[in-house]
Amino acid sequence: MTTPEPPQRAIVGFHQDDEGHWVAALECGHTQHVRHDPPLVDRPWVLTAAGRAARLGARLACRRCLEEAAEPRAGA
Ligand SMILES: [Zn+2]
Repeated sequence: MTTPEPPQRAIVGFHQDDEGHWVAALECGHTQHVRHDPPLVDRPWVLTAAGRAARLGARLACRRCLEEAAEPRAGA
């Protein structure tokens, strides 16, 4: 058995959270932080409007989708 890979979802927009961290909005309705936090996470592009615009339509692995697919909705 292999671990399932999270599905790739296109970025449809960006916003900042309360602490000023950038968050990507994905086509599936989920969001994902896209911090620039070197040396762990090196995403200098997220700090500029041009860099973010260039990433619209790029795909990120959405772990939330994988989690929701794995867990049947409780109570419904
Ligand atoms: Zn998702």
